[in-house]
Amino acid sequence: MQGIAYAEIDLAAVRHNLNIVRNHAPQANIMAVIKANAYGHGMVRIAKALENADAFAVARIDEAVRLRQAGIRQRIAVLQGFSTDEELQYLIDFNLEAVIHSNHQIEMLENRQDRTALTVWLKIDTGMNRLGFKPKETDKVIQQLKDISVVKQPFNLMTHLASADDQGSDFTTQQIDLFNQALIGVEGERSIGNSAGLMAWKSAINDWVRPGIMLYGISPFPDSTGSSFDLKPVMSFHSRLITVKSLEKGESVGYGNSWVCTKPILLGVVAIGYGDGYPRHAKPGTPVLINGQRVPLIGRVSMDMLTVDLSSLPQAKPGDKATLWGDGLPVEEIASFADTIPYTLVCGVTQRVHIIDHAGEAAV
Ligand SMILES: *Cc1c(COP(=O)(O)O)cnc(C)c1O
Repeated sequence: MQGIAYAEIDLAAVRHNLNIVRNHAPQANIMAVIKANAYGHGMVRIAKALENADAFAVARIDEAVRLRQAGIRQRIAVLQGFSTDEELQYLIDFNLEAVIHSNHQIEMLENRQDRTALTVWLKIDTGMNRLGFKPKETDKVIQQLKDISVVKQPFNLMTHLASADDQGSDFTTQQIDLFNQALIGVEGERSIGNSAGLMAWKSAINDWVRPGIMLYGISPFPDSTGSSFDLKPVMSFHSRLITVKSLEKGESVGYGNSWVCTKPILLGVVAIGYGDGYPRHAKPGTPVLINGQRVPLIGRVSMDMLTVDLSSLPQAKPGDKATLWGDGLPVEEIASFADTIPYTLVCGVTQRVHIIDHAGEAAV
């Protein structure tokens, strides 16, 4: 049985969005970022749809192992690399690629005797200050990596941009300059751009691009939606109305009685809430589609339900389709009503929600 709340995944749209990446970076290889269950869209299903991607990236080893066990054969990079010997062994056994970002990892690699078993990506920290070696450390680390037998040579080189979505800032060009200068004369393929980087900064495009959010049809930039860049939304989040009733002026709706009717209204209750991943902090007025028509959210979102004002849709009835975001209602818009970014909304869809593909089959 398909649940009341479901996320419909448009696999044709994800393939279309991969082509948009190719248009932006025609010479580059594409490492499709499918961490966090492909941003909530279903990792294995998305990996299978993106068979034309040159490689995949996930954050953690368990994600990569799941892809291998599902039969995914492309290159897979693990963005957090490894931090234990057991994890390092998994990387080798499952033919995965490791991001190298710390001296702790270098020491572990030096302790291995096996030869050229591991493809690595040396991560340079050009200003994110999360993972990676500082530009001034790179000469030393590069020499160390060259001398490690388990590392395939030449190794790859990467950095990550901190504010590529801010086109008015010069931080991105500073980061790109630091990366290029630190690596003058160093062999190895290079990778800088995430979605915002490859869309807004030509100099962030090199041997490999690493798009995530744009593959799902979502704009990486504030105050815009994917459609401005010819991206198509991949996830549509749906449920249904389960009751419709009239309220009088002065009656309140929901927990905390925070919403009070200033006039008589027709109230609709939709079977979706924060227990499904709809943001609890969505403000009154956040649009919801009922049978494709926009109506405003009212009252507080609860765990299993939310309430809408159906006064403009007097014919609405229980069973009618509700769309919380997706086709016709950009998730970027919902994110701004909830004071968050669209990444958190799609990633936050919970286990209870059935993920189905466009044709209505249960998805992996
Ligand atoms: C998540 C991530 C990406 C993809 O970022 P988007 O903004 O989703 O395109 C690229 N590179 C690294 C290192 C990441 O962690």
